Amino acid sequence: MNCPDTNDQKNCRNCDILIPIDGALAFLEVCSSECLTMVSEKDRAKATARVIEEYEKSRREIQYKQFYQSPRWLTLRWQALQKFGFRCMACRRGREDSVILHVDHIKPRSKHPELELDINNLQVLCADCNLGKSNRSDEDLRP
Ligand SMILES: [Zn+2]
Ligand SMILES: [Zn+2]
Repeated sequence: MNCPDTNDQKNCRNCDILIPIDGALAFLEVCSSECLTMVSEKDRAKATARVIEEYEKSRREIQYKQFYQSPRWLTLRWQALQKFGFRCMACRRGREDSVILHVDHIKPRSKHPELELDINNLQVLCADCNLGKSNRSDEDLRP
């Protein structure tokens, strides 16, 4: 059974006390103007934090994508291809088979950003093998 007195009553969003049902600020879910100020400030801070978070996130995403155009990566990528002989390390096909070669992170960058420029974390895969691998993430296909 519902008690008619507390049926629609809510707690103040700031101090958590039960708001008087006829309170002037009840529709804002606060008990007093002091609490309204507090809650507004908190809401504003939260909204600001959210904007900053979104910004940081998109900045990280851009950096993440830009990595593949960075001179450091392109140099390392070339070194890996030379070291591993321009050949897929899984199926052994190479340039003469006109396959597209990818230099792949064995431990994915998303999980191991510290290994993104570590040549020991790289393997050369053809497009076919790399595609097959991406579903089974962080698999080492080197012989
Ligand atoms: Zn309050
Ligand atoms: Zn292959």
